[in-house]
Amino acid sequence: MILDPSAVPGQVAFGSDLIARIEVAAALVNELATDMAGGRPVPLPDSDAEQRARAERALHAAGWPDAVTDAEQARGLRELAGKLRPIFAAVHGGRTGDAAALLNELMGASGAAPHLHQEGDEPWHLHFHRPDAGFVRGWTAGCAVGLAYALGSGHGDRLGVCAGPGCERVFVDLSRNGSRRFCGTACQNRVKAAQYRARRRDAQESRRGGI
Ligand SMILES: [Zn+2]
Repeated sequence: MILDPSAVPGQVAFGSDLIARIEVAAALVNELATDMAGGRPVPLPDSDAEQRARAERALHAAGWPDAVTDAEQARGLRELAGKLRPIFAAVHGGRTGDAAALLNELMGASGAAPHLHQEGDEPWHLHFHRPDAGFVRGWTAGCAVGLAYALGSGHGDRLGVCAGPGCERVFVDLSRNGSRRFCGTACQNRVKAAQYRARRRDAQESRRGGI
């Protein structure tokens, strides 16, 4: 799996479809199963309309044009997000065996099965579910297979939970050196600023101590 296809110029990015599914998994967790972000509590969606909008936002953020057309689909994706969070947490906490067991369970429950699909004259696409799986089971299979592929190809450490205090957002680290620790620059800057303040305080205290 090439988690950063651009790292190998000219090489075919066979993994890009799977990466897109891993990004959906992270986006679903952040939109529908995260109640602390950037050091602040964030309300989870409390209406069908809000749930639907956020589910759709997660798919679009990861580059998928799919519409979430009804409340049942949105509820299904929220339920899926709740099952994906412990997988990110287990990998991040070094409990790879727990993550693998959860993924096997999710792949089994979704009836994940590779299936080549073509619409009209479009190129063939590899799906990870049967054509009659339905929207939620389809996404469950896609997210589970994507994460399982990351884990099973030695890239589990690319799945992370933000290191910022009071932030439970998750991410997929697609950086070249795999050193990402934060959900975004806001948390990174917040932690840097806190470290700077702490250093200044320590320096002031040691100056006072020296008088
Ligand atoms: Zn964060």
